[in-house]
Amino acid sequence: MSEDGVKPLVTALERVNEKALENARRLTGDGKAIDDFQVQSERVAYLVTEVRAAKALADYAAAANPEVDPLAPDLAEVFAAEVAARARHQVATHLDDFGLTDSFLTESLDSAEIRRLVRTGCSEKRIREIGRRVIAAGGTNSSWLENEMEQLSRESVREFARTEVEPIAQRIHQNDELVPDDLIRKMAELGYFGMSVPEEYGGGGMGNLVMILTTEELSAASLAAAGSLITRPEILTKALLRGGTEAQKKKWLPRVAAGEVMVAISVTEPDTGSDVASVKCRAEPGEVGGRKGYLVNGAKAWCTFAGRADVIALLARTDPSPSSGARGLSLFIVEKDPFAGHQFEMRQATGGVLHGKADATPGYRGMHSYTLGFDGYFVPAENLVGEDGGKGRGFYLQMEGFAAGRLQTGGRATGVAQAALEKTVAYVTERRQFGNPLAEFQLTQWKIGRMAVEIAAARQLTYAAARAMDRSESATLEAAMAKLFASDVAQRVTQEGQLLHGGWGFAEEFPICRYVLDSLVLPIFEGVKPILELKVIARGLLGK
Ligand SMILES: Cc1cc2nc3c(=O)[nH]c(=O)nc-3n(C[C@H](O)[C@H](O)[C@H](O)COP(=O)(O)OP(=O)(O)OC[C@H]3O[C@@H](n4cnc5c(N)ncnc54)[C@H](O)[C@@H]3O)c2cc1C
Repeated sequence: MSEDGVKPLVTALERVNEKALENARRLTGDGKAIDDFQVQSERVAYLVTEVRAAKALADYAAAANPEVDPLAPDLAEVFAAEVAARARHQVATHLDDFGLTDSFLTESLDSAEIRRLVRTGCSEKRIREIGRRVIAAGGTNSSWLENEMEQLSRESVREFARTEVEPIAQRIHQNDELVPDDLIRKMAELGYFGMSVPEEYGGGGMGNLVMILTTEELSAASLAAAGSLITRPEILTKALLRGGTEAQKKKWLPRVAAGEVMVAISVTEPDTGSDVASVKCRAEPGEVGGRKGYLVNGAKAWCTFAGRADVIALLARTDPSPSSGARGLSLFIVEKDPFAGHQFEMRQATGGVLHGKADATPGYRGMHSYTLGFDGYFVPAENLVGEDGGKGRGFYLQMEGFAAGRLQTGGRATGVAQAALEKTVAYVTERRQFGNPLAEFQLTQWKIGRMAVEIAAARQLTYAAARAMDRSESATLEAAMAKLFASDVAQRVTQEGQLLHGGWGFAEEFPICRYVLDSLVLPIFEGVKPILELKVIARGLLGK
């Protein structure tokens, strides 16, 4: 496959995007009335995301060393062709909603050249050939990286993940155990918790791409017991860098980077999820034992790792007036003792209580996710992020943190999908039916080929978002798109891999079963998929 094929496809898709965005902006009054056009806004958000993925993969294919990744041009063209085929169907079916005309479609996605490129790109033979070559290479991710530091980082974390994480991942999942402290210590020694912490605060200052490479490899070994361990410090680090006082940065960032403090993030409440501005948990000024601070009261839900964590980054209401909305929220660093197990109670000498009970989940096991109750829990004034100046800024700081979390989730999802591909390739190579290895059947090869194409797109979209964030922390839209698309890819790829395992794909002891369950959570947190599409991506694309 050549660059000649992918370029016209991406150009045609970008033209459609442009028109679709123009129309959606007009429809929604520059994003102000998205809620009056939710379905169309969602369609546009997804279309643009897929096209950005096609562009990221095409750019990668153009730059990649063919000796390192000889499949790159094929992967790029197949993916762009698939996106063009889907886009054509979507736009043609909802032509009026997209504000497009038959004649525009005829000269863009329906032109003879694009139809030919879609047919060549989606050709079964070509996808089977990709599948055959991926199977021959054991499904391994040997995508090309720009520099030696990136390559060395990937190699070293891959080695660590294979030797230290993979052997215990299945046990942790099946027994719903907590990630062992020994693993946390080893990850801390390697600097995994401080990848985005600047060097002046004791971190590696490695930048977002190396953080993503690390996340991907750790998540391929275990989503919950390794890859996701570094999400929480990432979120708090970004919030502190943006809104913390110098003293707070100096106090907390080196400890986060060193893995001395494990972090949990607490935003969601039993009755408040997507509508974060409506958070009710209260933090009221108070003085306890001569110390000025806040007394926290209220319930929180789904706080992952809250038991083991030494600190909880808590979003709470400091302005009790219901009309204060997002402006009434502040971010606190709540200190607590670490606890193992599915239930805990933290009693302060001053009378405050925090209790937590983990909610049982089918996957994403290793950190436990807790419902929390705060009862007169004291937090000193210096733990309000930004101190007095941070009052009322919690919502914005939390959103900054989530942007970093979403980028990281692009890496987490790609890692889970990659693991599913490798395990599936191994299985279909070994398993024989009707006298042949499954890998020799055409349909198997085609399915593996499609898995590889989708993973490559998710990976390059996420890497492009990481580079964009390295250039400017304001590249939050790119991070959201990476999270949206890679999470969907992880679900599709793991489920396809499960089917290729037949009945054994449903056996608890097979890792593919864990990947399927783990992948289900990816579109839920950091903004559940419909909210991510409407309130983050559509708003970012359509707003001025
Ligand atoms: C395993 C797990 C771990 C988690 N870890 C954490 C954590 O560590 N910290 C934390 O704070 N939270 C965490 N969460 C919570 C997660 O972030 C929330 O579940 C998520 O934000 C969605 O909120 P909700 O569950 O209240 O769903 P809701 O907000 O009730 O949304 C449910 C559905 O309603 C629809 N919907 C809602 N609003 C709209 C709208 N305006 N327009 C159209 N449709 C709408 C959407 O389809 C949406 O999917 C975790 C969740 C899980 C499952």
